[in-house]
Amino acid sequence: MSAQPSSAGAPAETYDVVVVGAGFGGMYMLYRLRGLGLSVRVYEQGGGVGGTWYWNRYPGARCDVESMQYSYSFSEELQREWDWSERYAPQPEILRYANHVADRFNLRQGMQFNTAVEACAFDERDNIWSVTLSGGKTVTAKFVVLATGCLSNARKPDIGGLDRFKGAVYHTGNWPHEPVDFTGLRVGIIGTGSSGIQSVPVIAEQAKHLTVFQRTPQFSIPARNAPMTPAERKKFRDNYPEIRRFAREESRNGIYTEMPDRGALDDGDNVRRAKYEARWQYGGLTFMSVYNNLALDKAANDTAADFVREKIDEIVRDKATAQLLRPAAYPIGTKRICIDTDYFETFNRPNVTLVDIKANPIEEILPNAVRTGGRDHEIDALVLATGFDAMTGSVAKIDIRGRSGQTLNRKWAEGPKTYLGLMSAGFPNLFLITGPGSPSVLSNMIVSIEQHVDWITDVICYMRERRLDTMEAEKAAEEKWVAHVNEVATTTLYPQANSWYMGANIPGKPRIFMPYIGGVGPYRQICNEVAAKGYEGFAMARAEQRQRVAMS
Ligand SMILES: Cc1cc2nc3c(=O)[nH]c(=O)nc-3n(C[C@H](O)[C@H](O)[C@H](O)COP(=O)(O)OP(=O)(O)OC[C@H]3O[C@@H](n4cnc5c(N)ncnc54)[C@H](O)[C@@H]3O)c2cc1C
Repeated sequence: MSAQPSSAGAPAETYDVVVVGAGFGGMYMLYRLRGLGLSVRVYEQGGGVGGTWYWNRYPGARCDVESMQYSYSFSEELQREWDWSERYAPQPEILRYANHVADRFNLRQGMQFNTAVEACAFDERDNIWSVTLSGGKTVTAKFVVLATGCLSNARKPDIGGLDRFKGAVYHTGNWPHEPVDFTGLRVGIIGTGSSGIQSVPVIAEQAKHLTVFQRTPQFSIPARNAPMTPAERKKFRDNYPEIRRFAREESRNGIYTEMPDRGALDDGDNVRRAKYEARWQYGGLTFMSVYNNLALDKAANDTAADFVREKIDEIVRDKATAQLLRPAAYPIGTKRICIDTDYFETFNRPNVTLVDIKANPIEEILPNAVRTGGRDHEIDALVLATGFDAMTGSVAKIDIRGRSGQTLNRKWAEGPKTYLGLMSAGFPNLFLITGPGSPSVLSNMIVSIEQHVDWITDVICYMRERRLDTMEAEKAAEEKWVAHVNEVATTTLYPQANSWYMGANIPGKPRIFMPYIGGVGPYRQICNEVAAKGYEGFAMARAEQRQRVAMS
């Protein structure tokens, strides 16, 4: 493979690998591939690195996996030199970290910003991808890696009148770079998922009045965010080898935490309540790790859900508001659990109103109000916390054509199909990072990103050593994997919720449980075994072999 872009022939630029996206996935992919001496180009539609943390600049944005764990582990020096200031770092700090990584490892050199990849077409004769960029230029590459992100395609709701609204409209997933000041304004926010729950308390402090339009109430656990002390940092660093090993190899979700060995119904009421209370006080996502059957057994799940509902009743003084905030229609944890700072408390403020748009859907947006149930809620600014076309949205925006001109969108019309979430049959040399069919959004995503990037790097190395030109998922292996992903999902309570894991937030999107729920540790083991067996389930070939097969 050429180490430099070749200038031979047209189109002018040829790379070994084109990577789409410069979030944590694309950045680490570039780092690893450059280490192999390959020519790599990263295209990013945004103006800088960081992906999620470049776009989601809304008030209150922060990670919900502790920063000491939600960080790269590939460089010992990096994890020793970067001091996280808080247990859950805020967005500006995570973005600074991404920029620090880009500078420290000299990554910008291989990146082109403000450039979207619009199309990728596989040329079967030359086994090469043509990649069309915004602006019309085309480059070619042997491999394409889609590091386009699971939550990167912000979803604008289709509500009548939105375009006529006179005030400013913001989307949490595409927030302006300059500060937004809500002082003295009546603000409306639509959506109460993770982003809504993080931003509501912060906006409420600034706005004259905040009206929260809620369709689905959420289970949310207090973050108990706090500054990181030097002693806490030291404790993590001293134990990093074991923490990182456990997260990669043994955990279900990429987070170091104790593994429960009991089910919720194995304890009596008082003991169970005390355990939930201790986790509530500790805060964070590990609330769901109190017992080992909360995602599996509805009766067990109900005990945790009831506990959180009781907390909402305790915190929220107005009984009608508390009732509206209590989630009842789905088991706890089957939608991504939210982590908040004073979310439920915020509804005790005199300047905050909750509006139920499940019972009274939004009829239309007027120039200065949101109309629901025949009532106009006057606002000066509107925040859309309406989430993303998750997991497949950013891939679907690219016109990807594989063998015989088949488009990936057509192939995935009934739901995404991949082998291991890494490749899709019929699309040779095209890799996905944290694609559907892998643990992805059910995990600490940096752990999953590192695993995928390392696996892809290894297989490219393997192909280079054997002078192989193409690799692609075999149809039978893919079908078996898709069936396995579905089968594992149906053994859990997850499919009971209308969640974005299921594509339920996008009208017309097929209802398929997209992430792999089998756990980060077991999934890694499967990927390693596949590799150890010479990449079982993937077809690899030299160009001349393929041609011979085609002629015979
Ligand atoms: C508000 C928020 C909080 C989160 N908190 C956590 C957390 O605490 N823990 C956790 O594990 N995960 C969290 N996540 C998930 C988060 O997305 C991942 O952790 C991680 O940042 C994903 O990195 P990535 O590189 O895969 O994707 P992204 O960070 O989404 O980056 C993908 C990049 O690809 C670019 N791109 C997409 N399509 C194209 C195209 N066609 N051409 C060019 N560029 C393109 C996008 O512009 C984007 O910059 C959070 C997500 C959100 C939205």
